[in-house]
Amino acid sequence: DPLFDREGARNALSVLKQVYGYPAFRGKQADVVAQVVAGGDAVVLFPTGAGKSLCFQVPALCRDGVGLVVSPLIALMRDQVEALKQLGVRAAALNSSLGRDEFVDLRRSLDRGELDFLYVTPERIVTPAFREMIGNTKIALIAIDEAHCVSQWGHDFRPEYRDLGRLAQEYPGVPRMALTATADPHTREDIIARLGLEDATVFTTSFDRPNIAYEIVERDQPRQQLLSFLSRHEGESGIVYCLSRAKVEETSEWLNTQGIRSLPYHAGMERELRDAHQDAFLKEESLCLVATVAFGMGIDKPNVRYVAHLDLPGSVEAYYQETGRAGRDGLPSEVWMAYGMADVIQRGRMIDGGNAGDDIKRVERAKLNALLAICETAGCRRQAILAHFGETHPGNCGNCDTCLKPVETWDGTEAAIKALAAVYRTGERFGTGHLIDVLTGNENERTIRFGHVDMPVFGAGRDLPTRTWQSVYRQLLAAGLVRVDHEAFGALKLEPEARAVFRHERQVLFRKDRPTKGKAAKNAGA
Ligand code: ADP
Ligand code: ZN
Repeated sequence: DPLFDREGARNALSVLKQVYGYPAFRGKQADVVAQVVAGGDAVVLFPTGAGKSLCFQVPALCRDGVGLVVSPLIALMRDQVEALKQLGVRAAALNSSLGRDEFVDLRRSLDRGELDFLYVTPERIVTPAFREMIGNTKIALIAIDEAHCVSQWGHDFRPEYRDLGRLAQEYPGVPRMALTATADPHTREDIIARLGLEDATVFTTSFDRPNIAYEIVERDQPRQQLLSFLSRHEGESGIVYCLSRAKVEETSEWLNTQGIRSLPYHAGMERELRDAHQDAFLKEESLCLVATVAFGMGIDKPNVRYVAHLDLPGSVEAYYQETGRAGRDGLPSEVWMAYGMADVIQRGRMIDGGNAGDDIKRVERAKLNALLAICETAGCRRQAILAHFGETHPGNCGNCDTCLKPVETWDGTEAAIKALAAVYRTGERFGTGHLIDVLTGNENERTIRFGHVDMPVFGAGRDLPTRTWQSVYRQLLAAGLVRVDHEAFGALKLEPEARAVFRHERQVLFRKDRPTKGKAAKNAGA
């Protein structure tokens, strides 16, 4: 039996209080809810932990009919449906794991209008069978969760999300929402265009997570470095991410021999064991879960005190999402990453050796560079991360390693001016590889064909080696002086702030001696 008075609960705030027991909306939740209750569309770009679920759940409960929720993972659906049922809300998930009898029950409650939420996979919701099943059932709204999956530039592209644009025609007049914690400007535009949400109101909040302290170190003796990081978190729970399943197993075993209670988690493990380890992590106060990226989506553990990366994540978006699992309760938390040449070489090889076309490879290289830029920056890490999401952070944060322990730098203003001039003179149409060919005076097929060999900037950077130029461009990126245009396949564009550098009004400091030098940087491509 429902725990709340369905008829009386038409008002958003009373739904919030009666169903969830929360006294007030947080941040912009109230604005989103008001927009959708009134029948409008919404694009919700809030960081992890901001409370996106309530943004679609509350309006669905306020409006007549069933709320359709598109979610990419069956595990995610299961968790949300369970959580809703606990609250006395009538929710069900339609997916391939449903038995015959369960399916009949579900159809019956749907036909009788006795369902508040129906979770469905993206491939299922667009089928004629699903449309037929909905029939004349009233729909409160359609919420598309993890909406970044629609974008090829995002970190988790899922082709089946592409068809969701059709929902606009199939369910005219039904409010639609897209929700995600990824909001770099390019992915945002992609979501709006692909899902037909041009008329939707876009809601964003700052992506800053002020309670998270960032630290990135050069890998030297990774296990000892990890141990010393974990020693700051005795008696607390956190996640250690590794790239491979084997490394997950080895690292977890080793931590146990060091007196740190640890369990492994990866997709190659038996289902039951994996679920048991996840449950242990959710329940226990002091457990180090060593995992591949298979772990984390949809996990709502508020008191994760640390996240460590022993390998470089796939992109800045992935890094932000994975580190964002720390400190959802708002209390001080630490994230730490060790990276080194091996990562850079391996990633470069994976990209170059893959089957993707040249254009995609260029985008992949640009993504790698954006992440390396954050690793190599001499400036505030938080500023660099937020700059990636198109956000400016006022001043240094005072809560990252470079703010707390300033690094050795060299005055790179002259080098920066040359690097920026190469971007400008060649028309903001080229990626770092070509720009460095121009700067170092490399006469090849492309520099000749585009007439760049005749420009004054050609060879203007012969005084510095290629590897230094690669680092210079990455650091310009981190400093927000240039940006990567993915639409133009990784071409660099100047940001307005670059003007101050040209005019000698702004000094540019580069970090000394990073590990991405020599052969490694060359292999990574630029
Ligand atoms: P997101 O999907 O944006 O990562 P969730 O929807 O999982 O975030 O919410 C994160 C946590 O915050 C959940 O435990 C949720 O219950 C809680 N929460 C969300 N909104 C509120 C609110 N208005 N008041 C109190 N707690 C809230
Ligand atoms: Zn900082």
